[in-house]
Amino acid sequence: MTLTLTDVTLTYPDGDTRLTALDRVSLTVPAGTLTAVAGPSGSGKSSLLAVAATLVTPDRGRVAVAGTETSGLGRADKAALRCDRVGIVFQQPHLLPSLTALEQLQVMAHLSGGSVRASRGRAMELLAAVGLADRANRRPHQLSGGQRQRINIARALMNEPAVLLVDEPTSALDHERGAAVLDLLLGLTKERSTATVMVTHDRAHLDRVDRTVVMKDGRLSAPGPVRAAPGATGA
Ligand code: ADP
Ligand code: MG
Repeated sequence: MTLTLTDVTLTYPDGDTRLTALDRVSLTVPAGTLTAVAGPSGSGKSSLLAVAATLVTPDRGRVAVAGTETSGLGRADKAALRCDRVGIVFQQPHLLPSLTALEQLQVMAHLSGGSVRASRGRAMELLAAVGLADRANRRPHQLSGGQRQRINIARALMNEPAVLLVDEPTSALDHERGAAVLDLLLGLTKERSTATVMVTHDRAHLDRVDRTVVMKDGRLSAPGPVRAAPGATGA
């Protein structure tokens, strides 16, 4: 099991009271599977990803990433865990305007203390995996929205994460490009055995994921079984 949230509650200050963004949420995502979290805007989906990423500490409950229980970790240890084990695809790509597609990926190696030069091979391999090997030297303004989103996904995979967290990857794309991005995420999840969580307010394409859960007012519908993935080892 690669990502486990147990009984997680998260509140935010809201005037004199507190707003409950996550209400006793439990979810286990096995390696090599993709769970979609659907639900309307404001239901707590991004909050769920922030907690799973250890970016936000919940009021109560536990988060285990790739077998590491995170509640006892300090800031530096959490940052190291994120760097090594977690890939995050934020809703907005936040690509650096002056860097090429290849360099956007190589920055990740640099941030984790690796050699930029040595990361070239892996960055090129990932650009090929997302179908952009021939765009390696393009800058963001020379790429389409769908291509930028694919670079965003490839970048999140640079450090071989065990857990891949993806926020609304299809929201800015038309139906066909949205379907292509979902296919890409499913393929990468199987190939690289990531425990993937994709949140979305858009119910299109969800027939193809391993499992869909629904978030409403901070509560998660009872997660059903993960659809048996061909070739998956369980784990
Ligand atoms: P979703 O991603 O499903 O749209 P969010 O997780 O962003 O939902 O938000 C869930 C609820 O928490 C919303 O009511 C939102 O206004 C509130 N919220 C989100 N982030 C913060 C924050 N940093 N401070 C206060 N309230 C927040
Ligand atoms: Mg959101």
